[in-house]
Amino acid sequence: MIDIINKEVNIRLDGYKAFAALGISHSSYQKVMQAENELSEIFHEIDSIEAANQAKVLAAFWQERIAQHHFAPTSGYGYNDLGRDALDRVFAHVFDCEDALVRPQFASGTHALYCVISGLLLPGDTLLSITSSPYDTVRQAIGISGNAEGTLIDFGIKYKQVDLTPEGKLDLPAILAALDSSVKVVYLQRSRGYSWRKALSVEDMCDAFSSIHKHAPDAYILVDNCYGEFTELYEPTHAGADVLAGSLIKNPGGGLAPTGGYIVGRQECIEKIANRFTAPGIGKEVGSYSDSYRPYFQGLFLAPHVTAQSLKTAALFSKMLEDFGLETLPLSTEKRCDIIQSVRFKNAESLIAFCRSIQKASPVDSYVSPEPWDMPGYDHQVIMAAGTFVHGASIELSADGPMSEPYTAYFQGALTLSHGRIACMMALDALTGHSESN
Ligand SMILES: *Cc1c(COP(=O)(O)O)cnc(C)c1O
Repeated sequence: MIDIINKEVNIRLDGYKAFAALGISHSSYQKVMQAENELSEIFHEIDSIEAANQAKVLAAFWQERIAQHHFAPTSGYGYNDLGRDALDRVFAHVFDCEDALVRPQFASGTHALYCVISGLLLPGDTLLSITSSPYDTVRQAIGISGNAEGTLIDFGIKYKQVDLTPEGKLDLPAILAALDSSVKVVYLQRSRGYSWRKALSVEDMCDAFSSIHKHAPDAYILVDNCYGEFTELYEPTHAGADVLAGSLIKNPGGGLAPTGGYIVGRQECIEKIANRFTAPGIGKEVGSYSDSYRPYFQGLFLAPHVTAQSLKTAALFSKMLEDFGLETLPLSTEKRCDIIQSVRFKNAESLIAFCRSIQKASPVDSYVSPEPWDMPGYDHQVIMAAGTFVHGASIELSADGPMSEPYTAYFQGALTLSHGRIACMMALDALTGHSESN
């Protein structure tokens, strides 16, 4: 008996053993553990954000008296669907706004954003983007890239944009100058998306939003909140945004939501958007779901924690890559306002090796090796790594990068830091050429 206990103690003391079993080298193990030690203050800060956001989410559950009956499936029109309506109200409380539209039927974040824009704008109205060009798929829906038919521009909606300053900040004088009376929606993208810039903080938004509201009281401010949820103590609604939209297979789904999108904001906005989402007159009142709503509630409940795990993983990778001599954004010690970490590799081989190590570290499809491919809508080949439970979910550890200079990889997610840490060690092994020898 004593023998067995001693053995266990030995296993616990020799932390490397478990990692060695995965083929991780001792030097990568040591470097990543050391990097993590040096990030304790950053991790502590992330913990305190998680704590506050968890409290906010729990309070919303209490307020709506969430119970088993809210998880039940519905069918047909779904009149008085208790789960659907309660989920809306819980989201509205969490984001401190009047109303919400949270639906499994949103195919993606782009679909939710498209519903917002097309619901709030009429022909002749202008959409003003104030964070340079929007995310790829949103651009196509607007009609400023690609060759899809039936875009917003085809429907007579006008588009203008103000670029971020070279420092990646909002250019307030240029924004105010662009606010003519036709501007009905001002569009801000919180996350970096796939560009080499920092995410915007809620603090960055505060001053800008109050000036915009003053200059254009009839314009709604819409924030593409993808990847930003629960990364800070506050959400863009606290800075004066009228509507936020995002994807449920990113932060607010907590890794459990199987699909869907959300929109939260002022009641008058949600009403117009719901009319676009279903049909004018029907709005939010119909829409059933024949599977359980439980993963949406449970996912939201876990979202502050899972987001924190992703933030810690991103900081750890950033530190490891900096120590390895690469350029990262944000730096490991910088404040994070989204879960994305960008890094520039010195050549295509390193980018490929990095993405392959992420795939190899995944719980699903770990045995496949990603290849660069011609992705529709991109000028260059793209390599992607995603061994996720929910297909395409980027709250789970995933990475991708266009195969062109400066060989940037964007990666994000990790349901647990324990998994992120393993991936970080494997990535370091891959970059130092250890992986094949193991
Ligand atoms: C993910 C994302 C979207 C929406 O993308 P989907 O793949 O359609 O969910 C929009 N904007 C940003 C910044 C995003 O990260």
